[in-house]
Amino acid sequence: MKDETKFFMCERKKRFSAKKHAEARLKSIRKKGIIVPPDAHVYLCPVCSGWHLGHAPNPLTVKELENVRKNDKTKPQ
Ligand SMILES: [Zn+2]
Repeated sequence: MKDETKFFMCERKKRFSAKKHAEARLKSIRKKGIIVPPDAHVYLCPVCSGWHLGHAPNPLTVKELENVRKNDKTKPQ
């Protein structure tokens, strides 16, 4: 797995030790009135074996990914 894939699916996210903890967090976010994408879900992470909150890819995520690639290429200057 690529480092950038790991970063976006695991390292930049909050980790939960159990599915119920992740689901509880999702519920509490909704309760606070924060807008959660309708496709938000919890998933078991193949990188760290923990649970994360996720949703289907959106334009922001794609843009962030492009920035990471760009930064990798232009670093030594
Ligand atoms: Zn993870």
